[in-house]
Amino acid sequence: MSASLARVFHDVVDPATEEKVASVELHDAQATDAAIDRSVRAGVAWREVAPGDRARLLRRFAEAVDSAVEELAALEVRNAGHTIGNARWEAGNVRDVLAYYAGAPERLFGRQIPVPGGVNLTFREPMGVVGVIVPWNFPMPIASWGFAPALAAGNTVVLKPAELTPLTALRLADLAVEAGLPPDVFQVLPGRGSVVGERFLDHPAVRKIVFTGSTSVGAHVMRRAADQVKRVTLELGGKSANIVFADADLERAAATAPYGVFDNAGQDCCARSRILVQRSVYDRFLELLEPAVAGVRVGPPTSEESEMGPLISGTQRERVRGFVEDAAEPVHVAFRGTAPSGPGFWYPPTVVLPASADEPVWREEVFGPVVAVLPFENESDAVTMANDSEYGLSGSIWTRDVGRALRMSRAVESGNLSVNSHSSVRYWTPFGGFKRSGLGRELGPDALDAFTEVKNVFIASD
Ligand code: NDP
Repeated sequence: MSASLARVFHDVVDPATEEKVASVELHDAQATDAAIDRSVRAGVAWREVAPGDRARLLRRFAEAVDSAVEELAALEVRNAGHTIGNARWEAGNVRDVLAYYAGAPERLFGRQIPVPGGVNLTFREPMGVVGVIVPWNFPMPIASWGFAPALAAGNTVVLKPAELTPLTALRLADLAVEAGLPPDVFQVLPGRGSVVGERFLDHPAVRKIVFTGSTSVGAHVMRRAADQVKRVTLELGGKSANIVFADADLERAAATAPYGVFDNAGQDCCARSRILVQRSVYDRFLELLEPAVAGVRVGPPTSEESEMGPLISGTQRERVRGFVEDAAEPVHVAFRGTAPSGPGFWYPPTVVLPASADEPVWREEVFGPVVAVLPFENESDAVTMANDSEYGLSGSIWTRDVGRALRMSRAVESGNLSVNSHSSVRYWTPFGGFKRSGLGRELGPDALDAFTEVKNVFIASD
């Protein structure tokens, strides 16, 4: 078979219309190896770029992204079905993350440690080639949380977007070159996880993997990385709790709860997909939640009015249905919002009331617009229920009692909590999970630690 016959393409589909948007060539193992080799070669010069120059190049990259926010957002609307409002935020987040880490090359300090007989210095050395494996739910931001600090620390990057959502990552790679980054310092390699992703795990020149995706593939990544003692950062699944106490601003808690779980059609590892409500206000909370859910505007992602778009694919919609309509045991649906009919992978915002905390819809990551609600009695009951999960990524606590807010914040086993809000990801602050939600932290001031090796040097003065 000739080489050209062996080429494999993936048809990118608009999830809102099911129409083909583009056809993207997928890298095979050989092409992946060639890209990794180029990345190694590019790294020789990149790590020697003076800190001020590397900072300037990253600032220019941020400016190039800023100029392309509308273009990138429009691409994401078509490729991932994200609402235009969300997609603009996502492109802006890439710009901000680049600008934030552009401050790093000139501040990558080591330490001078007092020792007898000489001087002791530490340096923070780049690791080499960093492989970033990105899922389809937030293709732009998640890519930048890996590539921006990795590049700032003097590494080169090979990035594999999800097969379903390669378009914005490919455009970001072009923008990097347009901004003046040397060729091959940042490469985007569309391809299958089982091909390109696996080569990242196997290839000894890839010294670090940043993986975001399902817990099962994340565990596989960790097992495979162990063979080479390859460094890993893992951002995996979640089943986060939104805990509402009787003393909370109930109206606000109910009005915002849909946006804490249905944003990006629930395809968010931080989705607050379990709502725990203190029993004394449980009925009242559900009364308030119903109109809030009905009010979520589900519609064409191109519309400025839409607050929620479709799911990413037919497969994902089937998966979501498997937790509700097609569940092994009947699941009690309390009420639903609306969704368009016709083409597109639509699914309405859905509130379910499980019979117990054993139901899959309460325990497993649905990754769709489905939220389950259960009552709790008191504070210790709330902590026990919130922590009765293999995950620990995010969560919210609603109360007017400051002491309780602090006690709950310390007791809930989760990497990112918010009190009286649903904020999870801010590029200034660390992001990552407890338990099976992941390993390591992205973003914030410490992310550079995950992309550098500490080298200790002793210089004798005698
Ligand atoms: P995956 O974990 O399979 O995919 C995430 C990324 O890993 C993709 O780029 C994928 O490539 C890649 N990948 C897949 N297999 C391998 C492998 N063997 N080696 C290296 N890389 C690999 O998630 P799915 O897309 O299958 O989604 C399934 C479920 O996972 C969702 O319903 C959700 O519950 C969860 N999920 C959680 C995410 C989060 O942010 N926490 C993000 C995405 C999914 P490719 O897609 O090209 O095969």
